[in-house]
Amino acid sequence: MRKSLLAILGLAMTFTMPALAHDAPSKPDWSFAIHGGAGVLQRDRMTPEKQAEYRTALQAALDAGSKVLREGGTSIDAVTAAITILEDDPKFNAGRGAVFTWEGINELDASIMDGNGRKAGAIAGVHVVRHPILLAKAVMQDGRHVLLSGKGAEEFAMDRDLEIVPPEFFATEERREQLERLKAKNLSALDVEFKYGTVGAVARDSAGHLAAGTSTGGMTGKRWGRIGDSPLIGAGTYADDASCAVSATGSGEYFIRVAVAHSICERVKAARRMTLAGETQDVPLTTEVLQGIVDGVIAEVGELGGDGGVIVVSPSGEPVFSMNTPGMYRGRATANGLNEVAIFADE
Ligand code: ASP
Repeated sequence: MRKSLLAILGLAMTFTMPALAHDAPSKPDWSFAIHGGAGVLQRDRMTPEKQAEYRTALQAALDAGSKVLREGGTSIDAVTAAITILEDDPKFNAGRGAVFTWEGINELDASIMDGNGRKAGAIAGVHVVRHPILLAKAVMQDGRHVLLSGKGAEEFAMDRDLEIVPPEFFATEERREQLERLKAKNLSALDVEFKYGTVGAVARDSAGHLAAGTSTGGMTGKRWGRIGDSPLIGAGTYADDASCAVSATGSGEYFIRVAVAHSICERVKAARRMTLAGETQDVPLTTEVLQGIVDGVIAEVGELGGDGGVIVVSPSGEPVFSMNTPGMYRGRATANGLNEVAIFADE
């Protein structure tokens, strides 16, 4: 509570300072960030080899999205370029390598949002679509619906000629062993994995359009058709050119209750909108103000008992991360030459 109050106070104080307005370029330039899940990621729990494997995987996804943006592509294409790579990588809990449900199958959720016109698509509970993020994109492009689930979503995927694979395609031994441990010892999903492994990406393209996407297998041992925040627009994913683009990872139930992605964007929108001499206009936010808003919403998740993190890009400046866990697999790159991947919170 105190932290979010401080963030708001900080915001109010910054508003009174004329210097607020500008650490941003006048012309939009591309900016990109990815995540591969947050959790109890600590140096002493990970061998240097494991750390290197994750950094290499993150860099590959970051490079794929950055290339799209550098060559003038759209933010939506950058988001799908990175997420399809992470979905194919069994190290992450999305696509191949997804966690198992209580019944021992892989059940996939994903969503995507285009900040240009606030178009959105999402899918939940699919078992045979190789790239759930591409199915979410197809739902968005079709435009009649936002969220499709289960068999119907799979029929739609076949109708759109998306790649269909047998359900076993997603299964890995490591994930099966995590489910067995969870069942045998009556543990929670976090006890068997120490982290959430959802993947996501947020982008601003050189036309100034924002996009966000998220893809996941959910939580190990999930039952009863449980669906988390990842495929829910406003919870795990949100994008609006007037505010920001957000992708989340963490204990989904809490992220739904706080409507994390939409809450962040609404606060950003309010902070950008200023009335000067009777005229309303949007001003660029400093990175500090943006960080304060994002940290404030993650603090609210923490106050309810949830944990995880988000990646955020706004209409100007660099991408921002926030987490209340010891680490989050993540990376960010910009047209100005920023290019970095990180795992631990203190990096
Ligand atoms: N947020 C996801 C869910 O609750 C889990 C994750 O981030 O890994 O389904």
